[in-house]
Amino acid sequence: MTHVMLDLERWGTRPGCALRSIGAVVFDPNKYGEPHGPTFYRNVKWRWSDGLVIEESTMKWWREQSAEAQGAFDKNAIALCNSIDDFAVWWRQVGAEFVWCHGANLDAPIYEAAVHAFDCKVPWSCNAVRDTRTLFMLADFDPKSFPFEGEKHNALDDAINQAMCVQLAASKILPHIGAIR
Ligand SMILES: [Mg+2]
Repeated sequence: MTHVMLDLERWGTRPGCALRSIGAVVFDPNKYGEPHGPTFYRNVKWRWSDGLVIEESTMKWWREQSAEAQGAFDKNAIALCNSIDDFAVWWRQVGAEFVWCHGANLDAPIYEAAVHAFDCKVPWSCNAVRDTRTLFMLADFDPKSFPFEGEKHNALDDAINQAMCVQLAASKILPHIGAIR
């Protein structure tokens, strides 16, 4: 059972918004303190022909972020269709089964909408999505109490930190539930 934490930097907050970058990491939610596994990262080049939207409020939010944070998305940026293909290959290579994201209504459904825009297949099955926020609530864990390592709003650093938070939150409730699947 291989778990992956997915994080997207995006041009919006709703399914149908464009993506700026895709970050993902293999981790074991049942082993607090265990280092993470293979990682995935792509910067995505925006093209109007992809049919995904840039939301006004998110564009405004990005404008307020540092030039450094903005510039990071230009490095080796590739078309979304190629990023989706690369991610599907990586997903198979690492033998991934479950996908986690921070918020049941965000990265996973937004990624699914982006994949569907190209008529491609979502790599995970419909019952394989896991949400960090529900776990954090059940474990009475505040992710803000966890010291962040790396660059915030870098999709890979966000994914790695979210994975560590899941490991820590899960460790609090594992004695009661046995294992996270
Ligand atoms: Mg992020």
